[in-house]
Amino acid sequence: MSSIFDEKLIFPQENGKDVELLVNGDEFYSRCETIDGYTAIYDTDIGEFCFAEKAHGYLVSSRITIDRKPPKKIKRHLRESSEIRRRKFDSRFSLMQPEPSPVLPFDTLRTFGPNNGLLNGRRVSTGTVIGLTIIVEFADVKSEVTKADVESMLNDDSYSSQGNYCSVREYFSNMSNGELDYSNDVLGPIMLPQNRQYYVNRPFFVDVLNEIVAQGIDLSRYDSLGEGVIDAISFMYAGRTLYQGWLWPHNHMLDWNSNGYSSNFYQISSLGLNADGLSIGTFCHESGHMLCRFPDLYDYGKRDGDFQKSAGVGRYCLMSSGNHLDSGKTPSSISAYLRDLAGWPKRVKVNSPKKYEIAQGNYSSVYIYETDNLNEYYLIENRHTTGLDSHLPSSGLAVYHCDTLGSNEYQGGTPAKHYQCGLLQADGQLDLERNYNTGDGGDLFDNVQGIALSHNTTPSTLLWDGSDSGLSIKDISESDEKITFDVFE
Ligand SMILES: [Zn+2]
Repeated sequence: MSSIFDEKLIFPQENGKDVELLVNGDEFYSRCETIDGYTAIYDTDIGEFCFAEKAHGYLVSSRITIDRKPPKKIKRHLRESSEIRRRKFDSRFSLMQPEPSPVLPFDTLRTFGPNNGLLNGRRVSTGTVIGLTIIVEFADVKSEVTKADVESMLNDDSYSSQGNYCSVREYFSNMSNGELDYSNDVLGPIMLPQNRQYYVNRPFFVDVLNEIVAQGIDLSRYDSLGEGVIDAISFMYAGRTLYQGWLWPHNHMLDWNSNGYSSNFYQISSLGLNADGLSIGTFCHESGHMLCRFPDLYDYGKRDGDFQKSAGVGRYCLMSSGNHLDSGKTPSSISAYLRDLAGWPKRVKVNSPKKYEIAQGNYSSVYIYETDNLNEYYLIENRHTTGLDSHLPSSGLAVYHCDTLGSNEYQGGTPAKHYQCGLLQADGQLDLERNYNTGDGGDLFDNVQGIALSHNTTPSTLLWDGSDSGLSIKDISESDEKITFDVFE
């Protein structure tokens, strides 16, 4: 899922000039406001954004375009009721989910549940995977970005164009310690007959795939497991990102069959205005859902029966808000929690009391402190600000409290409802849980003389049921490419 918090974005209009709006939300539910705070919705009859008003709890168009003065009766910051928001979210969300398992209630498959902390569905997180990426153009919007630009961004060795840290293929090779070789064939551009705005409410995915097949293509190439299922389909559309309807960057299930092959997950994002804007962050994030079935580690604010928003693990993971770092050109690494669940690194236990040393960028190992609960443990990682961690808000040792049965929707930290993966923020401020920020300079442990963490520090290493996990850490060295620390009893 691809989420936006209070970002100012430019929106094109069919019958008006581009407008700047403040956006909050994701592909399932979003809300736009004018810069001075009036809720705006796109009126497809008029072809322009209009001030919203409320009818039966729903936001509807007042048919007064936002370049005019807002009518007196309309108040600022209009919102739909939480019940309506939930209903709209549920109806969109169900589209992206695989068929529910017959033995489990559907709701539990969202972020927590039986799949070892990962989302339900088909995983292709190891081996050689060739994704199918299709460039799409509209009758009114062509792309300045070439197929060669996209191929380079997805596949090249030592890719650094437009300031990107690496290509998508290099990113996953690095994160998976060489276990996943994910490249993409780039096809197209496929020219769609209608203007871009038409496809906001009418998805083009099936039409485009049928067109690709009509042109002649060997689908077996995209089925790494030989199951008659296409591993990964990515649509990239011409022009800047449109945060509306089916064009909002997202990944979903897609029901499509051809020549004995069926589709599974797809993702969609934009090519941007020109090649300078190409960045790997969101493509990697959505691929993390598609290939590895990684859950989002931020808090939607409307899932699993919890309506309060929080920051999850903030910018410290690609699958939280780390995909946006450095404008998506140096997304943060995938946190140790998810790399471990993917089964890529080997586990190194840090339960014995002694001095340990962890290197930044060592993606071949994760350092785990096990507890008596199989599903609950701590992971320790060096997040010194270099390499893919260059743009993190903090530098030093990260300690995560993990529970594969938790949900990052639950910011409350109670025995029954708590995060699946939470960062023990060194400053004890709980800014991520309180949704105060998505990370700050005090989050990681840097140069701590004496006790840094124990059962009676803030934050503490108590288990979610309040009992002592036994993890105590002292003498953490200065943030650097290698960090040492003592585990003591
Ligand atoms: Zn996501």
